[in-house]
Parts: sequence; structure tokens; C-alpha cells
Amino acid sequence: MARALGVPDTLTPRRATLVALRDGQDDTLMDRALVTWFPAPRSYTGEEVVEFAVHGGRVTATRVMAACVAAGARPALPGEFTRRAVVNGRMNLMQAEAVADLIDARSTAEQQQAVHHLDGGLSRRVLALREQVLQLEALLAYDIDFPEEDDGPIAPARITSAAGQLRDALGALLSTVPRGGLIRDGALVVLAGPPNAGKSSLFNALLGQARAIVTSVPGTTRDAIEALLDRTPLPLRLVDTAGLRDTDDPVEQLGIEMSQRYLREAQVVLACGERAEDVQHTAEAVTLRTNAAVLAVHTKCDLRSAPPDMLAVSAERGDGLQALLSAIDAAVLSQTPAPDVDAVLVMRERHRVALTQAHEDVQQFLDAWTTRALPAPVAAAHLLTARESLSGLIGVIDTDDVLDIVFRDFCIGK
Ligand code: GDP
Repeated sequence: MARALGVPDTLTPRRATLVALRDGQDDTLMDRALVTWFPAPRSYTGEEVVEFAVHGGRVTATRVMAACVAAGARPALPGEFTRRAVVNGRMNLMQAEAVADLIDARSTAEQQQAVHHLDGGLSRRVLALREQVLQLEALLAYDIDFPEEDDGPIAPARITSAAGQLRDALGALLSTVPRGGLIRDGALVVLAGPPNAGKSSLFNALLGQARAIVTSVPGTTRDAIEALLDRTPLPLRLVDTAGLRDTDDPVEQLGIEMSQRYLREAQVVLACGERAEDVQHTAEAVTLRTNAAVLAVHTKCDLRSAPPDMLAVSAERGDGLQALLSAIDAAVLSQTPAPDVDAVLVMRERHRVALTQAHEDVQQFLDAWTTRALPAPVAAAHLLTARESLSGLIGVIDTDDVLDIVFRDFCIGK
């Protein structure tokens, strides 16, 4: 196919070469492009691949693509390259998901976690857990093979302790789910306070402190505005909503209900006011409606000085913004357990479900084993299902169903 476009047979493997690409139909020059040949199996998909790096713009890529199709190629399906890489054993299913996460990442922290997963961080943990289940099954097999021996070759306490360790290791990985969610979605930080407290100004001033993606949330004429602040260690999802005051205006009421929903879901609420008594009043009203950490934020400190127990900010002059952001980070981090040494977090629902299932299965095995409620071969069935859950995560059992679920949401091509 590549030959039809004028690519010579003499390319050096994995080295980019400048090639005059010609239209196979009429031999006109389409572009001078860098072409790289990856002989199988050392390519992204594990198959033989030829990559064209053509010039950008509106026409060139489309024209080269059309020439490829005329020569017998077809456009890739969503996620097709990565799917082929999984099928050919170049990466496991969790790494393939990490490719999608890498492409979709909206913040540095999320992108960092995706790279970590692509590097095999999470798969290594899951493989190690699966290995632990296999070892436990092997220990149990001895016991099942020698049932007539009272103690058997394996002390029952050894099996109990191995299963306990396995359950705890699964629990440790699951305990990263809240932190993973915060990295994925951003910690929800809501600005609250009376009209004219300076909330919108503060919102905009905070946006200026980091790269941000701003979206307006429709539903009311007084839409909430959200911004995802790209910050480490955690992205922040900052929300400016209609105020908290009571109103008879039905449209405004909608906005207020939306604020209440945000308040319920928030990790941090900034109780804003330009006077200490406003801040206090807002903080009290907010505390009734949320379990979030409530930070007292005295706005417009260029006009009026704040009491020492409040965070003083001036959107006008930029005073106190860094201190406010640090206080927000600290409030959020103190709410979720810190990740352990290898800093791997569980971010995807598919992973959470499978790990929870495996955790429950191991617990059920332990219950059955320690109470001797079930014969060992029956108790062992729980370990088999735990192992299957973990295998399905990495794609050791690569059923098409699992592949379809994983690649459904991929962008076209990759
Ligand atoms: P919101 O209704 O709570 O969103 O309040 P706004 O952000 O719209 O601010 C209300 C008024 O206060 C506007 O006229 C702003 O210019 C002013 N304002 C906001 N922040 C500051 C500040 O830090 N210093 C000063 N001097 N004025 C501010």
C-alpha cells in the first residue's frame, strides 16, 4: 500500500525518512513527508506499521488519506490501534485504558496518573494481587488433597493469614478511590456569600493563578460557572453560583437550589463576605447545608482589614490568593487518605467494581475458612471468582465483551 504512494522498499526500520509522496492515480507530488517503517513485532500494535508524518493544514492530510484509501487502506475504528496492541499482547487492558485517559486528561495531575498507569503502575499491583490469590489457591489445594491428615501439610493459620493479607492489600488499593476521584474530577470548591461579596471577582482572580478550563453550567438564567484549575497535587473544580439568600423569584430560586446541590457535594466551601460579620453569617448558614470544610474568606481586604482568624483576600490587588489556594489544598488533602508509596490510584469505575468484588470474595472465603462453615473446596470457589475479577481487569481473559466496553469510548484512530 505504501509503495503505491512512492515509499521506497529501502527504508531503515524505525528511522524517519523524508519521502516524496505521490498520488498513486496520477503520480502528482502530494507532499514531502517523514515516513517511518516499523517491522512487526516492534510497533505500537505489534503488527507491521508504516507511519506518515505529513504537513498539517486543511488539505494535505485528507489528500494523503484519500490516496491511501484508493490504494486499499481504510480509516481506523475508534481505539483500533490500541485494541490491536492489546490483542497482540503489546499492552494489557489497563494500559490501554490509560492511553484513553492520557488523551482525555484535563489536568496535569490526571495526566500524570494516566502516564503512571500506562507505565504499568496499576497493572503491576493487580498482577501481584492475582499472584497472591493463585498462591492462596495453591496452599488450599494441598489442604484439599490431604483432607484426612488432621493438620494437613499446611497449617490452617497460614492460610488464614495469607487470605487476611490479600484482603488488606485489596482494601489498601480500594482506599485510593476517593483520591482518584478528586484527581479525575477535581476537588469541588464552592464560593458562597451574599450578593456583592466579591465572589465573581475572586473566582476570576483565582482563575488567573493557574491554567483553567471554564464551563458555564446551563439550567437557569443565573447559570453556575465552573472552572477546572489545573493545579498540583490536585486539580480544583471551582464553582461560582447564584447566592444563598432566600428569594421568591422562581428563576433565582432555581439557581439557589443548584447552589444547595453544589454545597452538599462540595469538598470545600469558601464563605465570602466583605465584613467579618458577613463572613461569619455565611459560614454559619453554609455549615448547616454541607459536610465540606468551610473556610472563612474576608474579601476586598484592600478596603477593610480582616480579623486574624480569617483568610484575607483582595481580588483587586491579588493579595492572599496563594495563601487561600494553599488553605484549600490542605483542607482537601486532609479529607482523603494519602496514596501509598507507589502513588497508584484507582480512578476508573470498572477498576473499582472489580476490586470491590475481589475484596468481597476474599472476605467471604475468610469467613467460610475460619468458621469452617463450608468444606474447603466450596470455600475455594470464592478465591476462583476473586481471581477472575482480577484477571478481567488486566485482560488475562480477553473476552470480546470486556474489550468492547473498554474501547467503546475511545477517540477515533488511536
Ligand atoms: P458577587 O456578587 O459576590 O459575585 O460580587 P462581585 O465579584 O460582582 O463584586 C461586587 C463588587 O465588589 C464589584 O463592584 C467589584 O468590583 C467589587 N470588588 C470585588 N472584589 C474587590 C476587591 O478585592 N477590592 C475592591 N476594592 N473591590 C472589589
